[in-house]
Amino acid sequence: MIQIYQIQPAIFCEPCKDCGARPVLKLEKKKYTVMCPNNHYSTKPGLVDVNDWNMKNKIHNQLSNLKSVQKAS
Ligand SMILES: [Zn+2]
Repeated sequence: MIQIYQIQPAIFCEPCKDCGARPVLKLEKKKYTVMCPNNHYSTKPGLVDVNDWNMKNKIHNQLSNLKSVQKAS
């Protein structure tokens, strides 16, 4: 049985880098997954890992930051 929960508004989550949706929390077989409601990225099942979600969905920004650093040097 799969349950889907909204993540509390107090918890900071990056929007999905593909569609901009706020992630949801899936509970399946007592394991949590932070995932895009439109099935883009999801973290590994286990503990609630918002950090992993945030890192994976910030990649685009990090890459553009790197580019601008290289240009400046
Ligand atoms: Zn998405």
